[in-house]
Amino acid sequence: MNTQRSAELFARAQQLIPGGVNSPVRAFRAVGGTPRFMARAQGAYLWDADGNQLLDYVGSWGPMILGHNPPQVLSAIQEALQEGLSYGAPTEREVRLAERILAAYPGCQRVRLVSSGTEATMSALRLARGYTGRELIVKFRGNYHGHADSLLVQAGSGLLTAGGGTAQSAPSSAGVPQAFAERTLVADYNDPEGLEALFAARGEEIAAVIFEPVVGNAGVLVPTPAFLEALHRLTQQYGALLIADEVMTGFRLAPGGAVELLGLKPDLVCWGKVIGGGLPVGAYGGRAEIMEMVAPSGPVYQAGTLSGNPVAMAAGLATLEALAQDPPYARLEAYGAALEQGLREIFTQAGVPVAINRVGSMITVFFRPGPVRTYAEAVASDTEAFKRFFHGLLERGVYWPPSQFEAAFISAAHGPKELERTLEAVRDVYLG
Ligand code: PMP
Repeated sequence: MNTQRSAELFARAQQLIPGGVNSPVRAFRAVGGTPRFMARAQGAYLWDADGNQLLDYVGSWGPMILGHNPPQVLSAIQEALQEGLSYGAPTEREVRLAERILAAYPGCQRVRLVSSGTEATMSALRLARGYTGRELIVKFRGNYHGHADSLLVQAGSGLLTAGGGTAQSAPSSAGVPQAFAERTLVADYNDPEGLEALFAARGEEIAAVIFEPVVGNAGVLVPTPAFLEALHRLTQQYGALLIADEVMTGFRLAPGGAVELLGLKPDLVCWGKVIGGGLPVGAYGGRAEIMEMVAPSGPVYQAGTLSGNPVAMAAGLATLEALAQDPPYARLEAYGAALEQGLREIFTQAGVPVAINRVGSMITVFFRPGPVRTYAEAVASDTEAFKRFFHGLLERGVYWPPSQFEAAFISAAHGPKELERTLEAVRDVYLG
């Protein structure tokens, strides 16, 4: 496979952009080698700058649930383009997108639209602090909620491979003041007893607990019923807000996201990715009584020049409309189940110990014996073995996320042909 053009672009990029990329995990640091620069995409496929066709399991890290370039989304964007790019004034599409989001999440009565997942979680935390008058937040080791200061404490995603702090409440990025990190308490995912102990010690000071309802950013981790029960019970008992970060899972795992799938009752929900259909949109929402604390209704300030951008709204709205008209969730589950089963058979035959975690269209192959339920179990994976898997697939035209600690995403454009091509590539790597 010729990758000369990607190599040239990467060399140029490294002289211009830190690490040659505008978001760390794209740099392939966790797997080595040269990242592919992409030139175009269609359906389940990407084409890199050298013209190589790649079967895509990254899906822009989640937004592209319909596959690339769905016609109804493209035409909605084209229509919006004719009407202007940005007004800095309210528009009908914002109302319609807000209606769609709230209809899918009956526990939420108000939603504020922003431009990224980071903005959504950061604003939800400010709101939780403003609403409760408390300062502490709780997050889980290896969960990632974007790059706001308070949340870069024991964070997942690219930070799992980039190194960073390890002590309790140590920042996982340089430049995060210790004073901020100290206001973030870190607990273990799927450890209800640990959470109980944390609340027993500091419960009265805790404004909110933020969590990934299905983790994607340590690789896929599935919450246990006991953990979910403890989250709800303790936040309620101590008057802290429960914030479900559905940036990755919202409108992906079910029409009402993980909240619907798992029967959760969070106080606030954060969205991103799918609700923008590939353009920059995030959102946070909840009960009116809490959300009306946000400016201009209330004293918690939050704003954005490009919030509710009409072109981005058109993309998000068309995506959510397509998902509602022809729900792909059963097909995504069927594809995911078949992929999981096929991978299990190949790895068993090859004698390679793996733990495969999957919820619907999110899947991770951990290179270690299972089960993998916690962050500690995830990070004990054999990352060298993962590199072999990743590069083996890439050489065979399958673009898997370039880190052990990420979810792979299936789209509605993935069908039997793509499934067979994927399994054939894996067979070729391990069984020759
Ligand atoms: N929360 C979760 C669960 C995420 O997966 C991400 C991004 N991967 C974010 C928040 C941050 O979103 P963004 O990258 O759009 O700022």
